[in-house]
Amino acid sequence: MLLQGTAALSDAADSHRALPAFSAYNLEMVQAIVAASERTGLPVIINAGASAFRHGGRTELARLTLDAAVSSDTPVGVHLDHSRSLEEIFACLELGYTSVMFDGSDLAFADNVRTTRHVVNRAHQMNAWVEAELVGVTGDEDVSTNAVSNAMTDPALAEEFVAATGVDALSVAIGNVHGFSSTPAVIDLDRLDAIGRRVNVPLVLHGASGLPDEVVLACLDRRVAKVNVNTELRRAYLEAVEEDLSRALETSDLVAVLGAAREAVNEVATRILLMLARAE
Ligand SMILES: [Zn+2]
Repeated sequence: MLLQGTAALSDAADSHRALPAFSAYNLEMVQAIVAASERTGLPVIINAGASAFRHGGRTELARLTLDAAVSSDTPVGVHLDHSRSLEEIFACLELGYTSVMFDGSDLAFADNVRTTRHVVNRAHQMNAWVEAELVGVTGDEDVSTNAVSNAMTDPALAEEFVAATGVDALSVAIGNVHGFSSTPAVIDLDRLDAIGRRVNVPLVLHGASGLPDEVVLACLDRRVAKVNVNTELRRAYLEAVEEDLSRALETSDLVAVLGAAREAVNEVATRILLMLARAE
């Protein structure tokens, strides 16, 4: 079934747990994530968008993800991650996405507020919720670039931004970076604490791949209720392909490789679901 509304996020924030938002690029990743949700009985969010649309087609990827979510025994949200395109955001809302992220982090504060509020109004009319961002999380969404965090979210500005936009969830920049990096990211938990005290909506942690579990769990104690995970799933997929490739080439068995990749993604997604639910 579709995971609609923000009650699951609010409940998670109140109980120091979080929902993972896993990025999916193709059919096998969508199936692996839904299977992990069903296996654990825990709700999940699938990020389907951006570069995955360029790879597989927007309508194609959206439809297969929404179909899988609707058919799931457990609640599955379908989310558009990091979009700067209103055309893309409104198209995904029309397709039935349960949430969208408008990323106005490159805009001036007033422009970010104005556009985010516009997206919020439209999304709420369509029974969807909105995540936004004030300060960009550095690094690339789709490949690890050894990014280093720079600017961080200011707690007072975050409070003003949430109040002015009516946004449902806020992505924070607290030292987190997209992708794996060779030097571990240093998370500013005091800053997160201050943001959590001032902002009355669930917080979102991007770039959680590569962070030690105890750091992620410390963020869950500070109102982070959605954790984006992408790189870890991509690595699991690619390593499974590498491991099975030469054997599969002997018999030209494509399905064996795709199946192994799906299984590997399922294992990682299951581990993260349980960790974020504190069920390990
Ligand atoms: Zn992100």
